[in-house]
Amino acid sequence: MDTQMLIGSQFVAGTETEEKILNPKTGETILDLPEASLSQIDAAADAAEKAFDSWSATTPGQRSGYLLQIADAIEKDADAFAALEALNCGKPINAVRNDEIPAIVDCYRFFAGAIRTLHAPVAAEYLPGFTSMVRRDPVGVIGSIAPWNYPLMMMAWKLAPAIAAGNTVVFKPSEQTPLTALKMAKLMADILPEGVVNVVLGRGESVGNAIINHPKISMVSITGDIATGKKVLAAASKTVKRTHLELGGKAPVIIYDDADIDAVVSAIRTFGYYNAGQDCTAACRIYAADKVYERFVADLASAVSTLKYNQADDTENEIGPLISKRQRDRVESFVTRAAEHKHMQVVAGGKLGSDKGFFYAPTVIAGATQDDEIVRREVFGPVVSVTRFSDVDQAVTWANDSDYGLASSVWTKDISRAMQTAAKLRYGCTWINTHFMLCNEMPHGGMKQSGYGKDMSVYALEDYTAVRHVMIAH
Ligand code: NAD
Repeated sequence: MDTQMLIGSQFVAGTETEEKILNPKTGETILDLPEASLSQIDAAADAAEKAFDSWSATTPGQRSGYLLQIADAIEKDADAFAALEALNCGKPINAVRNDEIPAIVDCYRFFAGAIRTLHAPVAAEYLPGFTSMVRRDPVGVIGSIAPWNYPLMMMAWKLAPAIAAGNTVVFKPSEQTPLTALKMAKLMADILPEGVVNVVLGRGESVGNAIINHPKISMVSITGDIATGKKVLAAASKTVKRTHLELGGKAPVIIYDDADIDAVVSAIRTFGYYNAGQDCTAACRIYAADKVYERFVADLASAVSTLKYNQADDTENEIGPLISKRQRDRVESFVTRAAEHKHMQVVAGGKLGSDKGFFYAPTVIAGATQDDEIVRREVFGPVVSVTRFSDVDQAVTWANDSDYGLASSVWTKDISRAMQTAAKLRYGCTWINTHFMLCNEMPHGGMKQSGYGKDMSVYALEDYTAVRHVMIAH
């Protein structure tokens, strides 16, 4: 197992407080990893700054070649990456091996191609006697900070567009899930020039805080909680750093009375609970039309009760545990508080999922109303609420009435109603008759307090580049 940070070309251990890295399936310690000191973070920023001149001068074609090598190397070692991610996050091995790793490999391959095809206005004489052209140049050193729900995938979403665009990076994984980032550090050190990517370990309040305040870092890209995003913005205001914020979600799902209920139930059973609901796009806030509400709740409750977790044979598991005891306790407290209200019914789950490890039983809470905490706050666990609505305007108003604005879905056979609803929803993404489907060609990112800036797609490349005008007098 790789245990050392990457600073420049050196593999080094942190010198500060040790963090326990746990196996969420058992609660047992895998190992202890020390976090970086302030001088090690400075050294990482120095290495990234030093590498910037030569890396930013490489051609898109050359950088593309490096990204393709990274993709191939991950693919070649896919089983080991999957096993390590499954160990550190408690994810079912099949979910990582068959869903996540191919998407991660494809992310590097997508950006390898996309960086060679950026667009800009045509160079021309927009003023007589002057030729104008637009450049898209790298921003500088990027401080990238990732969460624990998809460690390797979030690393890909952040690193691939940043380095493709010619930036260099100081990357910090979540203090709870650093293991695959350390394996990636080894892989990248074999492929990339020294200092292009640096990986440092540590907690948000110490190492993360040093990164977001670092004078040599020109842009901070973070995926995490809204509260963390606000701290990034406050720090960024001191030196006017560029920011890229992906800050969670509370995805509304509108089910109209003509929807294919079997299809919705099957989709919510999967997409409300994938990754144990620790997903910012999780289909967790359902609005079901009066006419279909009773049947939908009954069918969803029975479908969710069949979800497989904590089976001895991991290949049978559909979902895993929560990442930590703290997160499981948080999820449990949301359900306990909801159950105290007579108008809500816990129709599936509502209990811990095991004696050991951090499992929570997949849960459905029916009868929730718009003002209930379970409808308003992000649980980030295997808990879905269902709210009844009586007309289309009410459903759209309630769906939009949220601090979050990342993802949403609409279920109906009436394409006009679907398109009218999609046009009114204030979310970075709206799916129609599906949910959760992401692809590297399409943008992923929020509105409102879910943040701004896009992951994946050419829009991510735009976020990691500065648009510049160059004019020539003649
Ligand atoms: P978190 O905000 O606690 O931590 C995210 C990262 O930020 C970690 O690496 C952490 O160490 C770091 N961090 C924490 N405090 C910091 C500070 N003061 N300064 C600098 N860095 C700091 O979030 P989490 O609990 O790891 O992840 C769950 C959250 O991430 C959820 O809210 C979830 O919705 C969100 N998320 C969003 C997306 C998206 O694409 N929008 C994707 C995945 C997760």
